[in-house]
Amino acid sequence: YLAGYEQPDFITINRFRNRVKKEINNIFTQVVLILSAKGLISLDVEYIDGTKIESKANKYTFVWRRTVEKNRAKLQEQIRTLLLQVDDVIAQDNAAKKEGVEFTADLLSEISEELNKSLESVPEPKTKEEKLAIRTKKKQLKELDKKRNKLHEYDQHLEIMGERNSYSKTDSDATFMHMKEDAMRNGQTKPGYNLQIATENQFITDFALYANRTDTLTLPSFLESFNSRYNRYAKTVVADSGYGSEENYLFMDTHNIEAYVKYNYFHKEQRPRYTPNPFSPASLYYNKEQDFYVCPMGQHMKRIGMKRSITSNGFVTYSVRYQAERCEGCPLRGSCFKARGNRIIEVNHQLQQYKQKARELLTSKEGIKHRGQRCIEPEAVFGQTKYNKAYKRFRH
Ligand code: SF4
Repeated sequence: YLAGYEQPDFITINRFRNRVKKEINNIFTQVVLILSAKGLISLDVEYIDGTKIESKANKYTFVWRRTVEKNRAKLQEQIRTLLLQVDDVIAQDNAAKKEGVEFTADLLSEISEELNKSLESVPEPKTKEEKLAIRTKKKQLKELDKKRNKLHEYDQHLEIMGERNSYSKTDSDATFMHMKEDAMRNGQTKPGYNLQIATENQFITDFALYANRTDTLTLPSFLESFNSRYNRYAKTVVADSGYGSEENYLFMDTHNIEAYVKYNYFHKEQRPRYTPNPFSPASLYYNKEQDFYVCPMGQHMKRIGMKRSITSNGFVTYSVRYQAERCEGCPLRGSCFKARGNRIIEVNHQLQQYKQKARELLTSKEGIKHRGQRCIEPEAVFGQTKYNKAYKRFRH
């Protein structure tokens, strides 16, 4: 009635939505704050989980970093060879000067311009040989322009990709990743997004899209997103073992967040018939005062150094290395370890402490309640969105 019985086109609606993207996000925050004011949620707890949602883009529209970088390097060599072939001082000079240095599209444009100018200043060819030489030079210049355009294309691919390893040509924000639903069962990657949500009483309180398919790497930035929305961190975070890493535990510890976050093997440990492997570092006796482990044969394993590793997020972790004194001739050697020499174990004490703390929280009365609640929190929201509303793919 208001529109005079005219139906707006879907493109009009989409254009409008794109224009007010920021405002829609603000409205979402306001709605959540209203829910909080009405007492339906407290914003003190975040039940976090993630899912992969396919993009609208076709699965064959991929651009892979490795391929682009390989072809770009090949192209650089081809450009250098071509410049050396051009029978001109300018070209030869540039090829020689740029030995070991990368050509850029701008630089190639400059070289091509100079070569064109020098070609124009050449007097009218008279002999057959002169005519042929000019023709060859023109052909080479055309080839150089083609290569410059290709180089520009590769540079653009890398710029769009940013830190990602792939993107889709028709949806440049989407990254290629393995999806949970794999109908063909061939592990094919598809363009998509890693959607992270936080819920409370089945209301979505925060959401974010990531190009990284690993949930572990998204948690700190996702918790920051909650803080930027509501100007505070949640007091409690509940998440599954996909989020239990040293970096994440440290982040939550620093921001006074109670971490009901499982780590790998938590489920295994909770099984009634679980018997720990007596040879695993976690089962060995540790003397904290004197900093040594005791192996199953009663030998002291002394500290021999530290190992520094960096996660793909750039987070630095340190593990302490301990070595047994003499494993030769030990009757338990076969079951204990497979490598040569004396056994070496690596222990990340910081992570062990965080795991211990998480174990205590998760097995407490409150922890059992949160664990039970987690299954019907984000999972129910995903079920509603993906299956009941059939929104398995971003269609916009
Ligand atoms: S193999 Fe070495 S580390 Fe293992 S139980 Fe025997 S002595 Fe100890």
